[in-house]
Amino acid sequence: MNKILVTGGAGFIGSHLCKKLLDKGNEVICLDNYFTGSKKNIIHLTKNPYFELIRHDITTPYFIEVDQIYNLACPASPIHYQYNPIKTIKTSVMGAINMLGLAKRINAKILQASTSEIYGDPQIHPQTEDYWGNVNPIGSRSCYDEGKRCAESLFMNYHYQNNVKIKIARIFNTYGPNMDLCDGRVVSNFIIQALKNEDITIYGNGKQTRSFLYVDDLIESLIRLMNTDNSFTGPINIGNPKEYTILELAEQIIQLTKSKSKITFHPLPEDDPMQRNPNINLATTKLNNWQPQTKLRDGLIKTIDYFKNIT
Ligand code: NAD
Ligand code: UDP
Repeated sequence: MNKILVTGGAGFIGSHLCKKLLDKGNEVICLDNYFTGSKKNIIHLTKNPYFELIRHDITTPYFIEVDQIYNLACPASPIHYQYNPIKTIKTSVMGAINMLGLAKRINAKILQASTSEIYGDPQIHPQTEDYWGNVNPIGSRSCYDEGKRCAESLFMNYHYQNNVKIKIARIFNTYGPNMDLCDGRVVSNFIIQALKNEDITIYGNGKQTRSFLYVDDLIESLIRLMNTDNSFTGPINIGNPKEYTILELAEQIIQLTKSKSKITFHPLPEDDPMQRNPNINLATTKLNNWQPQTKLRDGLIKTIDYFKNIT
């Protein structure tokens, strides 16, 4: 049994990770400030005596003895991370420093939830880990993109300078149950709009692409990554290489929900990446043949069922 700290454990991804780690027989400490996460996501876990909840903000240090740390704390949706951009940078950068300092002191392994956003609006497709990206350092997404880039640098430097055992996962768009109703991300937005027969709001012409990973596949990859050999640090892309336009996503959601919603077009937000698609060869090699198992249609059906029950 490992003792594992999950920062951001009450959020969308964190709540699934806490559950899976408990199911595997670990002791799990979920640390969260509930900015975008919710106790509702993890309340069912509190019956388990090996689960603990801590209200804390990772921009200030925290001390605990654990074997592993998954550092997920950070708002992930554009509207949430742009709500208080300075706080987003502090969470990424000071949060990383605090958690890396902890990992160093207690000799724990630490995994960083990084993001495909570090590639910005990429000019090579699909993106491989050796691509340095195309990021606007002063745009409205920069608090998140540059915060996460700085966190990657901190992780690598704590590894080089202090031998901290690190793993960096570059996560591409992930979806599934427990996404926040009002976080404004495309999958949750379209499903909620379709279920209410409201207009589907496409930003731009809908030809921009994303690849969508179902949350169960992500969780499996993160746990495999944490348990790779100490010499492997990443960064490693985690995503689904199947690419869809946002228009195709909207049409699929309308069809699956049998909705009467109409598609409407709205201005594209600043620096919205036009194309995003991971090359996952490294993940397949390093993570024991890991591949996404859930087809978009099947993952959407599960996510639609979740939103039907809570709306
Ligand atoms: P989320 O917003 O649902 O979860 C983030 C959690 O972190 C929330 O519970 C929030 O309350 C908590 N948090 C935020 N700031 C904090 C702070 N200062 N101290 C303590 N807790 C804090 O987002 P998510 O989709 O679950 O994302 C989790 C992680 O994965 C994030 O680091 C995000 O950058 C990364 N990621 C997510 C995606 C995706 O598609 N969901 C893609 C790439 C990377
Ligand atoms: N998007 C959209 N309508 C919405 C929400 C998002 O067309 O209601 C678009 C958005 O402009 C982007 C894509 O969907 O091109 C994915 O957006 P999301 O916020 O989910 O993630 P990210 O842009 O960070 O990949």
